[in-house]
Amino acid sequence: MCGIVGYIGPKDVVPVLLEGLKKLEYRGYDSAGVAVAGGGGIRLCRVRGKVAALEECLGRAPIEGAYGLGHTRWATHGCPSEANAHPHVDCTGGIVVVHNGIIENYLALKTKLKAEGHVFRTETDTEVIAHLVEKHFSGSLEEAVRAALAEMEGAFAVGAIAVKDPGRIVAAKMGPPLVIGLGDGETIVSSDINPILAHTSRVAFLEDREMAVIDASGPRFLDFKGAPVEKKIERISWSPLMVEKQGFKHFMLKEIYEQPQVIRDTLMGRISLDRGEVLLAETGIPAEVFRDVRKAVIIACGTSSHAGLIGKYFLESLAGIPADVEYASEYRYRDFILDKDALVIVISQSGETADTLAALRAAKGRAAATLAVTNAVSSSIARESRGVLYTHAGPEIGVAATKTFTAQLTALALVALGLAQAKGAGTKEDRLAVIAELQRIPHKVERILHRAGAIEDLAQQFMAFSHFLYLGRWVNYPVAMEGALKLKEISYIHAEAYAGGEMKHGPIALIDEKMPTMALIPRDRVYDKMRSNIAEIKARAGFVIAAADENDAALREHVDAVIPLPATPPLLTPFLAVVPLQLFAYQITAKRGADVDQPRTWPSP
Ligand code: GLU
Repeated sequence: MCGIVGYIGPKDVVPVLLEGLKKLEYRGYDSAGVAVAGGGGIRLCRVRGKVAALEECLGRAPIEGAYGLGHTRWATHGCPSEANAHPHVDCTGGIVVVHNGIIENYLALKTKLKAEGHVFRTETDTEVIAHLVEKHFSGSLEEAVRAALAEMEGAFAVGAIAVKDPGRIVAAKMGPPLVIGLGDGETIVSSDINPILAHTSRVAFLEDREMAVIDASGPRFLDFKGAPVEKKIERISWSPLMVEKQGFKHFMLKEIYEQPQVIRDTLMGRISLDRGEVLLAETGIPAEVFRDVRKAVIIACGTSSHAGLIGKYFLESLAGIPADVEYASEYRYRDFILDKDALVIVISQSGETADTLAALRAAKGRAAATLAVTNAVSSSIARESRGVLYTHAGPEIGVAATKTFTAQLTALALVALGLAQAKGAGTKEDRLAVIAELQRIPHKVERILHRAGAIEDLAQQFMAFSHFLYLGRWVNYPVAMEGALKLKEISYIHAEAYAGGEMKHGPIALIDEKMPTMALIPRDRVYDKMRSNIAEIKARAGFVIAAADENDAALREHVDAVIPLPATPPLLTPFLAVVPLQLFAYQITAKRGADVDQPRTWPSP
């Protein structure tokens, strides 16, 4: 995810772009840049770091122009650096593009363009767009962009300008959002409406496969084939803060709702349906290394370690290799024994978690390979691991991890499938079936989100309790741990997670009418066992909320409330079961009036 802004109008263009970028910084902030055009040339300023660094740079060396583009980046391809910062240029420097998203076929395009003589200067996928537009340019930027779009696969919002077609911005959308603000003699294009609202409340939202060609007289809307499109112009009355959160009350809620897209983005470009394969070459770890791995050691902290625990089930069930999951904060201080044929997987959203980094350093050189699963390109953990598989979740602003958890699950499922493939574990048909089911997960998460109102009602009913038990077995035991962590972290309600089978060894004594249970009970191999656990809790006057298969009518009379989950293969149920638990924790916290996005780290006096 990144932020794009563009402006044509009478105002001083650089300040308009900078103000816009500041409002888009929640979308990405590892590097930033602007390009302004006019008077027969294009001038660029790009920096590594936040928009404030760009502002400083422009303060030292001002640039001027009549119109321009700006970008704040959250890297997906190529480390955050000045060279990889957008805007990107073609060979001549006369064509400039900004991009949000991923060009899935960029490697194939890059190889072809290089063979045709184009010279690449960055590691980004975005640079291929500039060269593609250059290749097709013969005077009309609009036509060149359209021809380039026809060759691009993936998800993108693009803005382009060309010195040889002056006074024009061309914008196109296929996936990520793009909004056009129609002011009085001015037009602003942006990733969301926040930067626009300072200038106008009249906006048009581009749909997928639509483009806007903007000049001093305003925008023209077309589809990717060039046919004119009639756009509805809407009036917006939102406050800027609402827009930053896209209408959601808190970042955490917005991020919960981003999960279907985040899962799609993390799968993107990593599955070849034609070949029936998972593509893990981008990790940088050769397939032979994966083939010879005989076990996995997963090292992480907090929510990432819960994702790791679920990853253990994926690795065992799909790749047929044993996996241990370790807290980094414990592992780093141990006299651990690491097998030479083990794959060490370190998971960290930020890629900077100190304990995880220390554990990685201690493990390095003692295992077959180290693989990082992280959301931050070129973070320390990414740099210091032999290989890396990025989660494409975009920046997570809410302190409680939500979308990065499901993105980590997606990455771990891909790693397990990749290992299975390299080792020849299971049949190709089995793996293809799992891939197909993974691709169905985003839609099922959307269905859960559509029914969020019922979870809000439950939160209302249970918000006054002081203790909660979360119960799961098998692959949903770690989901119970994650649900309990979310609740305690943001609502400050005491919550404990247990594996169902452990209840009889002591914890059952806790159950009474003051200790409700959130039970995870999809239809899986431990379903009957969980039913027995629930019966024991009900016999002790405990309330039970059950997250269960939506078709499980029989369960309803044995519990107090049901959260329906769409049917999915048992191994993949954590992707679905965790979402209502995130919503439940969020709603209880919001209703209790605690600070959802920035929970306390110490009790208030
Ligand atoms: N793929 C582009 C890059 O890495 C854009 C990133 C994004 O939209 O997150 O620069």
